Amino acid sequence: MDDPENLNIAIIGGGYAGMAAAVKLAARGIAVTVFESARQLGGRARGVEYQNLQLDNGQHLLLGCYQQTLKLIEQVGGNLTEDFLRLPLQLDLHGHFKLKSAHLPAPLHLFIALLRAQGINWTERYQAVRLMMHLRQIKFSLTQDMTAINFLNLEGQSPALIQKLWEPLCIAALNTPVRIASAQVLLNVLRDALNQTRADSDMLIPRINFSALFPERAAHYIKKRGAHVLTSCGVSALDVLNDGVKITTKRGQLFYSHVICATQATSAAKLLHPVSGLTRVLTQIDALTHQPIYTLYLQYPPFVTLPQPMLGLHQRMSQWLFDQGQISGKAGLIACVISAAGIHQNLSQDALANAVIDELAEEFGLIVRPRWFKVIAEKRATFACTANLLRPSQQTPLPRVLLAGDYTRGDYPATLEGAVQSGIMCAQLIGVTSAERYLQ
Ligand SMILES: Cc1cc2nc3c(=O)[nH]c(=O)nc-3n(C[C@H](O)[C@H](O)[C@H](O)COP(=O)(O)OP(=O)(O)OC[C@H]3O[C@@H](n4cnc5c(N)ncnc54)[C@H](O)[C@@H]3O)c2cc1C
Repeated sequence: MDDPENLNIAIIGGGYAGMAAAVKLAARGIAVTVFESARQLGGRARGVEYQNLQLDNGQHLLLGCYQQTLKLIEQVGGNLTEDFLRLPLQLDLHGHFKLKSAHLPAPLHLFIALLRAQGINWTERYQAVRLMMHLRQIKFSLTQDMTAINFLNLEGQSPALIQKLWEPLCIAALNTPVRIASAQVLLNVLRDALNQTRADSDMLIPRINFSALFPERAAHYIKKRGAHVLTSCGVSALDVLNDGVKITTKRGQLFYSHVICATQATSAAKLLHPVSGLTRVLTQIDALTHQPIYTLYLQYPPFVTLPQPMLGLHQRMSQWLFDQGQISGKAGLIACVISAAGIHQNLSQDALANAVIDELAEEFGLIVRPRWFKVIAEKRATFACTANLLRPSQQTPLPRVLLAGDYTRGDYPATLEGAVQSGIMCAQLIGVTSAERYLQ
């Protein structure tokens, strides 16, 4: 192990991955500086203020199995009971499909839920249970990855079952349509969320914004341990030297023992292309493609509520609706999420909002119109989690350069948990000798 006193780590990017790495390093007494180009921390999971309301750049949801993220939120002072509305697994496509976790130990909670599911017939219920039993037999591991749709067809899932259960799950979890999504990554999520304890499948919807939930608390935590957090301070270049790494920012040049590049994939590529020795890593990063997520906030009068805090719509442009009145007390505020690529991207913001407002009127008989709406389009929300994708490892051929971020190698698709796990992995790799790294 290197002496922690000789370590001085630059972390580029103050999203969930970068801040996870920072917390773990600072907790070990290692010197850390976080550079964040934006004015605020959080990256793709950040608070946004609009009309005097604390919103997010996109409505997010965590699962009970996101253990590293949840532990880290607690480590920096969060309180999971206060911070989240916790709901037992429930998939409800308003009037078309309903599955509700049974109050039984896993995996019985799911099997019974599937056998009681509304909106599919007995043959389809049996097909879904048979698939889950088969997945347990093969330990949720395929010998060869394939697209989710191929896998579901091979497993004898009917088109209706795919449309009502597996496709909405796949889009929600991987933000990638079933026709191109990785079956193996989908199975990884099913393994962790549905198969171990009932609480793993719980859905956790934050009551506070995503910057406040973790990155701001993490900044406070690490500053108390001597770390620096520099916002509005983007890194424009990094040079790898024999004895360290040189970081260039508008504040000048600074030297560190190691750098963790915890930016999104496209920014990592920009920073790393001039660095020699990273050709294979860059080939993998450059090959990634991306998928959008649109969140449309609609402020209805305060008396407007949905039948549940979270509700899906079947065969509509609006995929998932979140009633922020029930979640965070923002009465009348509905967040509508549209994941992955689709025709909604061709519409103007006004046309998209009108289409969603019409859908809500038809589904719920809403005759009032919202007082305002706000569309937040994250065009590169996540990497497209396609079959057989090669993702770059957190270790690079350069021992002083590590990569964190949701796109780096791991079991998970682009999620907060994937990002956090990658940051923790980088922190674990720092201070480990080359021989120990080789063995890891
Ligand atoms: C709309 C939306 C909805 C989502 N919904 C969910 C969900 O429900 N559940 C879930 O688990 N996940 C969800 N995700 C995915 C999740 O938000 C991401 O996987 C996660 O936030 C990625 O974190 P990260 O730290 O890897 O990257 P980022 O959050 O992108 O952080 C990278 C940071 O690096 C900074 N940066 C870039 N270049 C530089 C530079 N040169 N110098 C300094 N700083 C730099 C950026 O400003 C950014 O803050 C969603 C994403 C979006 C966009």
